[in-house]
Amino acid sequence: MSTNGSTNIFLPVSDLTDLLTRIFIRNGVSRDSAGILAANCAWCERDGSLSHGIFRMPGYVATLKSGWVDGCAKATTEIAGAAFLRVDAQNGFAQPAWQDSLPQVFKMVSEQGVAVVAIRNSHHFSALWPDLEPLADKGLIALSMVTGLACVAPYGGRRPVFGTNPIAFATPVADAHPMIFDFATSSISNGDLRIAAKSGHQIPPESGIDASGNLSADPSAILSGGALLPFGGHKGAAISLMVEILASGLTGGLFSSEVDFSSHPGAESPRTGQVIIAIDPQRGGNGAFERRVRQLIDTVRDAGQTRLPSDRRYRTRELALSNGIPLSQEQHEALLAMAG
Ligand code: NDP
Repeated sequence: MSTNGSTNIFLPVSDLTDLLTRIFIRNGVSRDSAGILAANCAWCERDGSLSHGIFRMPGYVATLKSGWVDGCAKATTEIAGAAFLRVDAQNGFAQPAWQDSLPQVFKMVSEQGVAVVAIRNSHHFSALWPDLEPLADKGLIALSMVTGLACVAPYGGRRPVFGTNPIAFATPVADAHPMIFDFATSSISNGDLRIAAKSGHQIPPESGIDASGNLSADPSAILSGGALLPFGGHKGAAISLMVEILASGLTGGLFSSEVDFSSHPGAESPRTGQVIIAIDPQRGGNGAFERRVRQLIDTVRDAGQTRLPSDRRYRTRELALSNGIPLSQEQHEALLAMAG
């Protein structure tokens, strides 16, 4: 769905959520899961996380139509230890599986101080911050990682092994919204790579390699048998390796390099795994965690970092909540057509 076009409609979040729910239901998603996926997508659009807002709807629909994902899957959950939940999403989307396990997660964290949730056989096609914000809103620290489709080469490697493997971290902050960062561990996102290729723009030279393994700033060369690189050289590559180990190895999901949807033309979402770790900071040592984080963040701002992760999102959210979510006429019409 094009993100171009003039902005001339402002939809309340609830209206956009209802419209997206209709699209999911029309494409074979159960009512409960449709509501969860629609809210997730609408929140991304509301907060200006546009790479995972309505832009993704054609991909969701194509993936559902291809039969690669089960929109009616009902996740199964096993208690694998006092603080360990094992979730099989049964080839459904990760978010409904995560939502189902939330009551158990809160119970585990209150009893044990920590919960590790290992979700496998799941499709994640969105940003990670919506998964974590409800935990941080309740005073918990949270960390999540997801594997994807192999398009990132390991350090010094010549072919893709890793997904863009995002990692997100959320912490409560005294008298403020939680601070959440959430980004891919690749040099740039796959979506940005494709946009650059389409528009004929070069990307920074350390971002990828061509089919011969040479550094390349040409997105088309990277897409034709080359690979993206992890951010931050060998350090980012090690973090991406860790994401594979925790989000796929630990959970029992497929590694990014094992995903094969070639028999489902139109499929776009990876069927891999997701790990989420929730920690009660009150179990830590200083008894004043949220105030200490606030103090640290204030020190960081004082030192000159004017924008911290999630600042922009909360500002965008505030505007959307008072004015509505800005959409072009073209985007709105495309959504209405998808909803039938
Ligand atoms: P970005 O490089 O845009 O970085 C996003 C994060 O960094 C946000 O927390 C953002 O805060 C913060 N940030 C950005 N710029 C600044 C700045 N100048 N100063 C301080 N903080 C800053 O993200 P990516 O393109 O790597 O990833 C975008 C999204 O894609 C993520 O939500 C990720 O989860 C998702 N993704 C999902 C995948 C999947 O398989 N499901 C695969 C890969 C990515 P803010 O939000 O406030 O701008």
